[in-house]
Amino acid sequence: MAIEQLTAHALMEKLQAGEISSVEATEACLRRIEQVEPQVAAFVTVTAEYALAAAREVDEHRARGESLAPTAGIPIAIKDVLCTRGIRTTCSSRILENFIPPYDATAVERCRQAALPMLGKTNMDEFAMGSSTENSAFMVTRNPRALDRVPGGSSGGSAAAVAANEAFWSLGSDTGGSIRQPAALCGIVGLKPTYGRVSRYGLIAYASSLDQVGPLTKDVRDAALLLGIIAGRDPRDDTSASLPVPDYVAELDRGLDGLRAGVPVQLLGEGIDPAVRDVVRRAIDQLASLGLAVEEVQMPNIDYSLPVYYIIAPAEAASNLARYDGVRYGHRTREPVSDIYDLFAKTRAEGFGPEVRLRIMLGTYALSAGYYDAYYLKALKVRTLIKADFDRAFEKYDVLLSPTSPTVAFKIGERAGDPLQMKLADICTIPVNLAGIPAISVPCGEVDGLPVGLQIMGRPFEEDIILRVAYAFEQSV
Ligand code: GLN
Repeated sequence: MAIEQLTAHALMEKLQAGEISSVEATEACLRRIEQVEPQVAAFVTVTAEYALAAAREVDEHRARGESLAPTAGIPIAIKDVLCTRGIRTTCSSRILENFIPPYDATAVERCRQAALPMLGKTNMDEFAMGSSTENSAFMVTRNPRALDRVPGGSSGGSAAAVAANEAFWSLGSDTGGSIRQPAALCGIVGLKPTYGRVSRYGLIAYASSLDQVGPLTKDVRDAALLLGIIAGRDPRDDTSASLPVPDYVAELDRGLDGLRAGVPVQLLGEGIDPAVRDVVRRAIDQLASLGLAVEEVQMPNIDYSLPVYYIIAPAEAASNLARYDGVRYGHRTREPVSDIYDLFAKTRAEGFGPEVRLRIMLGTYALSAGYYDAYYLKALKVRTLIKADFDRAFEKYDVLLSPTSPTVAFKIGERAGDPLQMKLADICTIPVNLAGIPAISVPCGEVDGLPVGLQIMGRPFEEDIILRVAYAFEQSV
């Protein structure tokens, strides 16, 4: 097997045994990047020298017998929504095209502390708004499993980089499905942690009450390993939880004994492609045969998730993106301007793509004095009802199961002109963000040669349990 095809944990063993050096592993990724980037286009920025320097340092430490983080030397790719000190961070937007952050996001800093050489920054939908990575201002990323299809989004670059063996693993962000949906469409594992499990410090904000950073990996063990690196309290993010971080890897093979699963009928009915539904049903049967007690469950308020999300997320985005004004940092128009408002308007018209502008307008409208109660406040109330559906279900069930995406990867361009179709890509993932709970997508089969993902949702801060169920499933196929 070529080095770049190894999982991160398999590489970890070889690094520790001295069979492979970190420089060799990093060079293998960089060669692969050179080979496939002309087709896949997963990276906005490749940081080859930077990665090699970090790898060399790991190898030198190891040669001197100094103590190292167990994962030291495994190269990683980072979604371009996470700030990286001294390295351009664009959010795939013109408005941040030349932004060089003066600090690292906490998740990035923890990867650095774990001595993971950073290969580069991956492409995404502009400001993480989208489900196909077609909203990037810079390029269209292709699905390595079928180059005429989208990799999903918004973390499409991070998913494609791992699926194409350009990186051993990657970080993404998930506001309504942006880790899990691209993972499903590219045939890899993606985990959205509980809101508060991973620090959002240095994660460029889209919708602050929904955003979480999480891993995209080749298998479940790698997801457990990477989550363990990035999770935990951070004094710089007051929404990060002061809970201990379990040893996720050690918990993996505890099996399914005593665990109960609910299958929300609302997530397996209308709107789910029948072929995808069949594959997911078979996966659920498989889990049942392994000892998981499975039952259907009614969660009626889930049906309102999409409209609720498309009030709350744009409202928060409109507020968060007000900081891009052409004054403090980022792009500023070079056109002559009549006053400060004209400067804002011209800068934003040049800097933001159409989807971002649409969301800012929607959000501003929903927050305006006359409509706040009718839209925003109403959406918050329904969000509470959705959360209550989950609370009730989790009194009885340890996990909930559904498809991750209602369809397999669609063709590039196919939905670009149909915003509703595009947004329907997230019907199964968005309820999870509204409720703030953790969920993982694990590959569970194929339709016409294209991967299908099974979504496993859990109680707040029970990532260990969803990982366990995902692991049991993965080991059984
Ligand atoms: N597709 C959804 C949106 O456009 C979710 C994106 C995300 O999770 N960042 O808002």
